[in-house]
Amino acid sequence: MKVPMPHWSQTSSRLMNACPRAWALSYARKAPNRSGRSSRSDHPPRTYDEILVRTMREAWLQRVDDQYFGKVWSDAYARRTVEQKVDSALEDSQLKVLEFHQLQGVDRSLKQLKALEDTVALRPLFLGRPRRWAYFDRRTPTDVDGVDVYAAPDVAVFHQHRWTLVRLQFRAPKHSSVGQQLEHLLMVHWALKQPGFPDDPRLFRVKVVRWTGRNWCEHNVQITDASLKQAVNLVMHDVQEMRWLERWVNADPSLGTLPLAVHHRHCRHCLHRTGCPADTGLAQAKRKQEHAAMNGHQSDATKSARTA
Ligand code: SF4
Repeated sequence: MKVPMPHWSQTSSRLMNACPRAWALSYARKAPNRSGRSSRSDHPPRTYDEILVRTMREAWLQRVDDQYFGKVWSDAYARRTVEQKVDSALEDSQLKVLEFHQLQGVDRSLKQLKALEDTVALRPLFLGRPRRWAYFDRRTPTDVDGVDVYAAPDVAVFHQHRWTLVRLQFRAPKHSSVGQQLEHLLMVHWALKQPGFPDDPRLFRVKVVRWTGRNWCEHNVQITDASLKQAVNLVMHDVQEMRWLERWVNADPSLGTLPLAVHHRHCRHCLHRTGCPADTGLAQAKRKQEHAAMNGHQSDATKSARTA
């Protein structure tokens, strides 16, 4: 029987690093088999802000698709599109949001999307300048050393003999970590496997366009042979941890011994909070877990002493 490939995505990796238990509940429990394959998880939105981010992404994809085929959006059309997406996402969710806050959210999203068109990376597309460009849906994986990697760029623009791979972050912290920079480089690995792109990493640039709350900030990520290798190592390391967690889930289906969140802020909007030992406090739940583990070791030691 063909063994399905493990998958890696930023969402899965970040969840695993934030809380192994939440990762196991979102991914490992849904795996079609226990052979190292983790299924993708599309959880329902937990906050209105999550709805706004998702609807902005959808609206952006629609906007860029129309732009590609020369269809211009009026402000009224943009508003109608975003409003409809937000209304329908709210209807599908269990969230209750005051109409006033809904409207504020839609206004903010529209401003953010408009400002995106004016960034250095994307302005040329809306002025019709580059002759060669393409856009992608991030949900398109590619095989990197036997792992389904979800790392498609949002946009690729050909300029001065090279392709610039653009990553959009609709929400981003002020500073990004080295790990996140490596994640961005996975776009190069992704592109190297796609027909129509060159197979030489030197013919790419990587650009990140991040929304930091007030404006879009843009920066380039250096591509070197060493950093490209490190990016693949990061994926392999994560996949190894994921497999190990899956085995842990098999060995302890109660999940009682699985590590809990690194920080209590991860618990705030966690989908798996109900029924989680951390529901009444993360620190206390961790202490209880440590205590139970110590008691377990002691009784194991007692049993072995008796057997001896
Ligand atoms: S509530 Fe906290 S500890 Fe429990 S699964 Fe969610 S993030 Fe992890």
